[in-house]
Order: sequence, then C-alpha cells, then structure tokens
Amino acid sequence: SDVKIGTICSHSSLQIFNGARREGLRSVGIVLRENKPYYESFPRASPDIFIEVDSYGDLLSEETQEELISENVIMIPHGSFVEYVGSENILERFRVPMFGNRLTLYWEGDRRRQRKWLEDAGVPTPRIYRSPEDIDRPVIVKLHGAKGGKGYFKASSPEEFYEKFSELKERGLVGSLEDVVIEEFIVGVRFYPHFFFSPIEGENIADLEGGRLELLGIDRRLEVIDEIHRGLPDLMEDFMDYTVTGNIPVIVREKYLVDLLRDAVKIISSSRRLFYPGLIGPFCMEMIYNPSRGFITFEVSARIVAGTNLYTDGSPYSYYYYDEPMSMGRRIAREIKEAVKSGSLHKIIY
Ligand code: ATP
Repeated sequence: SDVKIGTICSHSSLQIFNGARREGLRSVGIVLRENKPYYESFPRASPDIFIEVDSYGDLLSEETQEELISENVIMIPHGSFVEYVGSENILERFRVPMFGNRLTLYWEGDRRRQRKWLEDAGVPTPRIYRSPEDIDRPVIVKLHGAKGGKGYFKASSPEEFYEKFSELKERGLVGSLEDVVIEEFIVGVRFYPHFFFSPIEGENIADLEGGRLELLGIDRRLEVIDEIHRGLPDLMEDFMDYTVTGNIPVIVREKYLVDLLRDAVKIISSSRRLFYPGLIGPFCMEMIYNPSRGFITFEVSARIVAGTNLYTDGSPYSYYYYDEPMSMGRRIAREIKEAVKSGSLHKIIY
C-alpha cells in the first residue's frame, strides 16, 4: 500500500503533516496522550492517524515499531525526535524506515565529530581552544549537552575563564574541563539558512557532482540574550542564556547567496566522503557574518530545523525553485512522492 509520512507531534510536525497533505500523502503522528486534543485541532495540519504514547521512549518498543512498519511509515527526523530517541538508538534500535541517512544524525550529534565534518568540508569555523591557558581573545564557553545554551559564558583571558568555570562547578553544572567547549566568540550578524539536498534530482550546481541543492529559506533565532538590553534580571549576570524562544525571517544581501551556496556544497561533498552516501534532505547551517572574515559556520543541523516553520507558504527563496508554496515539510513529502514514482526510494532512505 501507499507510503505514509510519520513523525513525533512536536518541533516542526505541523509543517510536515501539512506538507504531506498538500502532496496528497497520508500521515501518522506519534503523540503524547495529553497533547492529542491540541494536535487534532488543526484541520489542515493534523496527521491522518495518531499513535498515542505515554512517553516518547515507547517509540523504541517492539509494538510501536511494528505498528509503524505495518502502516508503511517513513519517519521524518526532527530536533525533538533526535533528542527524545537519541542518535545512537536511531542507529542501533530503530528499525522503521527513515527519510535521509541516519549516519548524518550520528555525525552531527557530537560536537567533536561535527567539528571534523566542518573541517573536512573546508568551511571557515570559529577557532577551538584546547586549553584555557591559550585564551587570547573573547571566547564563548559552551556546555556539552546544554540544549539551548543556558549557562554559556564569555571570557577574554584564562583568569576570567577559571573564575566563571569554578562558579559553574560550584553550581554543579560542570565537573571537569571535558564538559565544556571553548570557542572563539565571533562578532557579527547571524544567519541560519535552510537547505534541501536531493540525490534523485538532476544536478543544478556543477561542483555538487550530482544531486540538486535548494536554499528554501533563512531565519534568525530569537534567543533570550537578544533581549539583554531590556534588562531581564537573569541576564544581567555573568552567565548568558542563548535559549531559542522563537525565530524571525531574514534575507541575505543577494551577493552573499553565493557564499552560502558555496559553503553548503562543501558540506555535502564532505558528507559523502565521511559517511557515504552523505547528507540527504533538509539541513541548516548556523553562520555568523563577520565583516572582515566573511561567513563563519559554528554548527550544522542535519535535519529539518524549527526555523523553517516560518515558511509554511514558501519563502522568498523557495519561489526561485517552485512556482507554488513550498515549505520544507512539503519539499520532504515531494521528494518521497517523486522517489516512489521513479522507483528510487532506496536512494533517500537509509
Ligand atoms: P542548538 O543545538 O539548538 O543549535 P546549542 O546548545 O548547540 O544549540 P549553539 O548552537 O552552539 O548551541 O549556540 C547557541 C547560540 O550561541 C547561537 O545561536 C549563537 O547565537 C551563539 N553562538 C554560538 N557559537 C558562537 C560563536 N562562536 N560566536 C558567537 N556566538 C555564538
């Protein structure tokens, strides 16, 4: 029978379900029992079938997996899915067919592995300091696994680093130096471009050597720290809160599109070298434009990002590829539909 699009009811699922609907595909939503009434309330964005669970851990149970497999579901990984299920479990225990290359989630899920990927790609990245003693300019200190960047701090010298680090230690937030990454603080303008890479469509940029790259939108995150000028008391301290609270749309000066696309091509080429067949489907590069150094990438999210929720009806860029509203969620459904039609589903599901 026909394939269905599945995902966890969270993060960007409304866009994914809406996209499936627009492409004429049926969808399955895995929902926490108490959330169901709310996810049901969107006539154009609720899934056709709900699977109710008590916790997302149930996704790994034999029963739920069997149900998903028998419904012919292709799972779409998004941020909450990766967080709740875990990239190791996705690789080792989750047997339901999934859109994209699972290895991508493994490579992006750990800061050190991800760093290797960015370096192999040859895109400019912030310098990483191995030792606090080497701090010779402003740095941003990130806690491992601190989703959303709470407790991050800035320092400009080894002394300042140790002072703040011991405070975090006293608060029980870190144990040893292993728990933090010391990264050069990049001054500049943030851009989070959303890309889609299709291995089954004809090449549109020669350097790609096959496949089609689309820039479907750009956002900027609204992080708690962005409101620091409003004097929020918690922000007046030494520690900073980069928790994402929302997203706003941005466009980039047109000539910079070339830089964004060129760097995205490098990320794809490198992904094929490191974890064949490489990145497939949606990804986002987290970049800061510095006037003297250009675009610097500090992170890659190799899946649909929440910033794409801005563009349910397409973005200024999506219209350069499609003459109809093309959200990222719809683009995923379109890819699956085309792959089914041409018998190339095996090229987009790993
Ligand atoms: P997520 O996984 O949701 O992307 P995270 O916890 O891994 O978040 P980062 O994305 O690394 O955290 O950083 C959070 C925020 O901190 C960024 O969105 C950006 O505003 C800021 N930031 C990160 N790295 C740098 C840097 N090198 N220089 C300046 N600002 C930075």
